[in-house]
Amino acid sequence: MDEDVVNISGVSADLTSSGIVLQSRVPICQSDLPLDWYQQPFKPYAEEYLALPDRTPEVVLPWLDSYVRPAVEHFGDSLLLLAHFYMGGEIVKLIERYGGAVSDSYALALQAARHPEKSVIVESAVHFMAETISILADDHQDVWITNPKSGCTMEMMAKDWMIDPVVDQLLDRYGDELLIIAYMNTSGRIKAISGRSGGAVCTSSNAQLVMQWALDQKSRILFVPDHHLGRNTAVGLGIPEERIHDLPSPVNDVGALQNLASIPGCLDAMDKATVINWGSFCGVHTVFTSDQVRHWQEQGWTVLVHPESPLEVVQAADGYGSTDFLWKRIMSAPEGSRLAIGTEGHFVRNAAEQSKSRGVQVRHLTDHAGSLHGAEGGCGCATMSRNDPPHLAGMLDLLRRGEAPEINRVLPGDVVDEASGVRERLDNEERDDLVRHARSALDRMIEITESNQRSD
Ligand code: SF4
Repeated sequence: MDEDVVNISGVSADLTSSGIVLQSRVPICQSDLPLDWYQQPFKPYAEEYLALPDRTPEVVLPWLDSYVRPAVEHFGDSLLLLAHFYMGGEIVKLIERYGGAVSDSYALALQAARHPEKSVIVESAVHFMAETISILADDHQDVWITNPKSGCTMEMMAKDWMIDPVVDQLLDRYGDELLIIAYMNTSGRIKAISGRSGGAVCTSSNAQLVMQWALDQKSRILFVPDHHLGRNTAVGLGIPEERIHDLPSPVNDVGALQNLASIPGCLDAMDKATVINWGSFCGVHTVFTSDQVRHWQEQGWTVLVHPESPLEVVQAADGYGSTDFLWKRIMSAPEGSRLAIGTEGHFVRNAAEQSKSRGVQVRHLTDHAGSLHGAEGGCGCATMSRNDPPHLAGMLDLLRRGEAPEINRVLPGDVVDEASGVRERLDNEERDDLVRHARSALDRMIEITESNQRSD
């Protein structure tokens, strides 16, 4: 693996144009959601959208303009539209068209705090990203998500009621030795658990910096929730594999985690470990194999992957790094480059489309005949794609009319059931406590990241 292309210092809080360009006649939507997936206030927008004759920009944009432009004019400079790179092609292409920004989770998290003039922040991405923006937001800033049922499957495997009992057991056993790192892909409740332990949040772009900082403070780390990112980061810092322990997946037996002593060999393995990983993973990134990497390399392609992929994939690849790193590498690749990318499918499809005119070929890592997962363009983040054009049009129109559903407002500590849409909200005192601790973990991440950039 080419260490030069591992992303450590390329973390950026700035919003720059993604370079995505709408192309005539290229459909903007990959798949439509069934009508009964929309909340009642959004159904009229969905009905109109589903009745459009096709999904080309020539047809979709005039319809979208009729709702979005009046809202953009109504809110003026107070409105901030945000989307993540993993959104379906439709949203990433549209958000920038209306003056918004597409970015990775680190830059998204900072936008409310960096732009105090923005009091209406509308996010098209998964719920934890909107919640993180709301944790760092000021009281006068309202954060909205276009579809509150957009959860993250990795985060769903790391709810506070699963993690709290494990943290209690680890604190009983290791006391002050222990520090908790919460990956950005966690709820505010988990970020607050990290903050209470003196720990920090990390993203895939700064995980090595944060873990190194943590190891300088304490001798044992609990890394929550992605065990692949935890392992890849620890190995990248030179920690031997026998000193990295993955807890069992909560999918298999969440009950066993209530009593770690009941899991054969677990206490012994934890005692020997420097890094203990929670057992979550991302289904989008765990379909990758080292055979797929070699397939492309044998044909002269360069392979870049995201560090939520398994260790053997990261080690076989020519480089690995965060979403922002992958996007910048692709966009700056010289003419004639051939890049196979192991990450979320919508991201790769958008990158391939944008790179074609520069003479750069981009394919998804799974996109070849011999692959078990040979779906063209690779696996997309299905939950994130629940934010589609009807949700964007409806959210902005309902906000302009003062009729936005309360369920779409995101406050720190909110938990939304991704299937039923039922929301559990903390009372004011509980929320203040959560914000204090979650913010301390986020502030530590920001300080670690930015002080590293200052010393570069
Ligand atoms: S790609 Fe995976 S980790 Fe990222 S938001 Fe989607 S489910 Fe979560």
